[in-house]
Amino acid sequence: MNSQQFREFAKAAIDLIADYMDNIRTRDVLPSVEPGYLLKVMPEEAPEEPEEWKNVLSDFTQDILPGITHWHSPRFHAFYPTGSSYASIVGNLLSDGLGVIGFSWMSSPACTELEVVTMNWLGKLLGLPEQFLNCSTGPGGGVIQGSASEATLVGLLVAKEKTVRKLLKMNPNLDEGEIKAKLVAYTSDQCNSSVEKAGLLGSMKMRLLKADADGRLRGDTLKKAFEEDIEQGLIPCYVIANLGTTGTCAFDPLHELGPVCNAAGVWLHVDAAYAGAAFICPEYRHLMKGIEFVDSFDVNPHKWMLVNFDCSAMWVKNGYDLINTFDVQRIYLDDIKTTIKIPDYRHWQMPLGRRFRALKLWTVLRIYGAEGLRNHIRNQISLAQYFAKLARADNRVVVEPESSMGLVCFRLIDGDKVTKKLLENLTEKKKVYMVAGSYRGRYMIRFVICSRVTKKEDIDYSWNTIKEEINVLCSEEIHTKTQIPAIQHLDAVKLCEKSK
Ligand code: PLP
Repeated sequence: MNSQQFREFAKAAIDLIADYMDNIRTRDVLPSVEPGYLLKVMPEEAPEEPEEWKNVLSDFTQDILPGITHWHSPRFHAFYPTGSSYASIVGNLLSDGLGVIGFSWMSSPACTELEVVTMNWLGKLLGLPEQFLNCSTGPGGGVIQGSASEATLVGLLVAKEKTVRKLLKMNPNLDEGEIKAKLVAYTSDQCNSSVEKAGLLGSMKMRLLKADADGRLRGDTLKKAFEEDIEQGLIPCYVIANLGTTGTCAFDPLHELGPVCNAAGVWLHVDAAYAGAAFICPEYRHLMKGIEFVDSFDVNPHKWMLVNFDCSAMWVKNGYDLINTFDVQRIYLDDIKTTIKIPDYRHWQMPLGRRFRALKLWTVLRIYGAEGLRNHIRNQISLAQYFAKLARADNRVVVEPESSMGLVCFRLIDGDKVTKKLLENLTEKKKVYMVAGSYRGRYMIRFVICSRVTKKEDIDYSWNTIKEEINVLCSEEIHTKTQIPAIQHLDAVKLCEKSK
């Protein structure tokens, strides 16, 4: 492919992407394909001869697109959002166009320095304490990881190394292997699966402590767990606080957990993968009260900040903790000596290679501006509140807990079985997509505002689709209840009629 063909191919692909977004509402959010559909149509061997780009693009439309779940459809309300914007797509394109690997300053100075600049910009926008910023007088700084999962694991590995070094310094006769076997990590039972997985990958026992009735890990619970483990000869090492749990978007009180961790010399990491983006709006910063106690903090611009996957922003108070853990030297990597202020980012992450991810963060921050991003967050939260209002007005539906950020959890008063059936039926019809959660032992449906193009009318569409299905379920319920005592049947009829 020469540069002329590249221009044509890329321009056609960009037109296709713009058309796809302009017409996204015409597609069902979930695809109508069976498992194995693509395996059947794709050739078994890679092509021997070069092919025309037009044929590749036409196969994309014909074979690939039908198997896509449309994450950017305003009817996609599952999980949490994955970011996307034209600004970010162009940033990615530029990054791929350069195709550099920025593991050291010398391997592409702009790649490192733009990351330092954008992480300082973003850290300031979020209202993080000075110490986390690379432009502060201390050894703090930010780094872009691939995912929040990686950031949690990086924090765990660093906490492990730091604890082992500290204990060996205090008593050189201790056995490193024995120390490692005694280390314990703590988080709440509301943590994301990736947090539990970090314990598996980092070979550290991970205790999932019971959250309170509102889904928050409390300081007393953590303190008690430390005491129990110390009593048994174990060593508390790492705590992951959740700001915006995946289930209900609950916020652990950092001001309670922080002092417990600091007093015990335990590393405190914050997983704010989704909800952390809201801290660019000052009115939500009270939810990170106690941030000054934290050792590392992570938020995904690739979730709620319009940056395409992958871009997970992690800050630490002390970059030397990362360097001490991950610095492995080789003669071919021995270029000029850099400083903590102009880092060799290979010491701040797990892989050696790294893409120029800062470019897409930079294009998004510049094209939207802080105000544009704040508007995006505020608009999505107000759309969630609008949905909660519609759902609450229907007395067959219970909304609980209170909607948090862009997430609303709801269930049917008729019980878990019917709520589950509602979700199954809606998923089968493919018009809206949500996933399940649980709250205080009840089965809930999670409804999240995800697509950046979501408008009030889209929320009306989604709610009406859900409501129609509730109507169908309700009439089926009444039908079934005719077989059982009349008094219960009458109750169900009254209930359904009231809310139509
Ligand atoms: N933490 C929380 C609270 C999440 O909600 C998620 C994903 O939704 C993750 C971590 C994992 O994020 P990533 O896919 O960037 O690893």
